[in-house]
Amino acid sequence: MITIQENVELLPFNTFKIKAKARYFVAIHSVADMKELLKSPLYLSQKRLILGGGSNILLTGDFSGLVIKVNITGIDVVEEDDATVTLKAGAGETWHSFVMHCVANNWGGIENLSLIPGTVGAAPMQNIGAYGVEVKEVIQNVEAINLSTGNVQTFTNQECMFGYRESVFKQSLKEKYFISSVTLRLTKKNHHFNTSYGAIQSTLDAHNVTQLSVRAISNAVIEIRQQKLPDPKVVGNAGSFFKNPTITLQQYETLKNTWPSIPGYPIDNQYIKVPAGWLIEQCNWKGKTFENIGVHPHQSLVLVNYGEGTGEKIWMLATNILASVKEKFGVQLQAEVNVIS
Ligand SMILES: Cc1cc2nc3c(=O)[nH]c(=O)nc-3n(C[C@H](O)[C@H](O)[C@H](O)COP(=O)(O)OP(=O)(O)OC[C@H]3O[C@@H](n4cnc5c(N)ncnc54)[C@H](O)[C@@H]3O)c2cc1C
Repeated sequence: MITIQENVELLPFNTFKIKAKARYFVAIHSVADMKELLKSPLYLSQKRLILGGGSNILLTGDFSGLVIKVNITGIDVVEEDDATVTLKAGAGETWHSFVMHCVANNWGGIENLSLIPGTVGAAPMQNIGAYGVEVKEVIQNVEAINLSTGNVQTFTNQECMFGYRESVFKQSLKEKYFISSVTLRLTKKNHHFNTSYGAIQSTLDAHNVTQLSVRAISNAVIEIRQQKLPDPKVVGNAGSFFKNPTITLQQYETLKNTWPSIPGYPIDNQYIKVPAGWLIEQCNWKGKTFENIGVHPHQSLVLVNYGEGTGEKIWMLATNILASVKEKFGVQLQAEVNVIS
């Protein structure tokens, strides 16, 4: 049985800590709840926002439609053999708690994705990734409700069309599906550890870890993230605001003539990924504050709300950053965060 509330404050539901109200708000605890909602006249008459943990959105003002909060929980083992375990997790499960559950069971594959805020259901939306691992590597399928028909559909990994911070749910099927659960396959033994990225190996060395384990890597990632990234509980933010742009090798070589230290990570023999944080830093945005908002002093990719900042002001700052990077380097950055108006 669903209850639609009116004029609900969204501040507790977004990590940017933006004060904004939802005209209507409903919490969904099951597939049946969602099907019931789809039949309600109010649903049909309103614009909608599906909300997980609110850690990848920027609210630019009050939301005049219906916010649909995903609260479907539950973690089930659906298949298991000697070497692997397949788990189906409700979309409303907290991602990090889910990772901790897997770490506690010594199930490997998502330890590098420890401490990413948000929900399980949003993880496939932008194919979350960190420290050399993306969630697409372990996703078997995604169960989602078609918002037009109410039918429950299962998308295979391939059908999700995962890319760098991308999936079909952010592209051709944007706002057409409500993800209800995600099924992932993890290893029980012979884990494929990835310690090559960032400071994982040096952190393990600092703790004299000689025997790699799911737990040791998760602990290292948590330690690095706690040092590097601002905690949304302390200062409002949504992680990386921009994606790292992909440019052609030719464009990269041209830029390198002017900026010899420009970093680049080849994708193939035609394209190269450039860290957006470096570009933003060169435009002197790092650490800049404007009243109660700004660019984080250690992470140029992270925009922050120090207090009562509005989403509108943060978006204005973001567009100024986009323009200056475009002007200086000819590179068009894209927001990773979903901007909601
Ligand atoms: C401090 C910090 C660090 C971060 N680090 C990383 C990182 O390392 N790697 C990374 O990839 N991301 C990172 N993020 C971004 C964010 O945590 C992820 O994108 C996360 O998956 C968002 O989950 P959420 O539940 O909060 O989604 P929300 O912000 O609630 O929603 C994001 C989008 O998904 C849609 N959506 C959410 N749930 C569903 C659903 N069930 N069905 C359909 N649509 C849905 C929403 O409508 C919205 O468009 C970070 C964020 C913060 C604040």
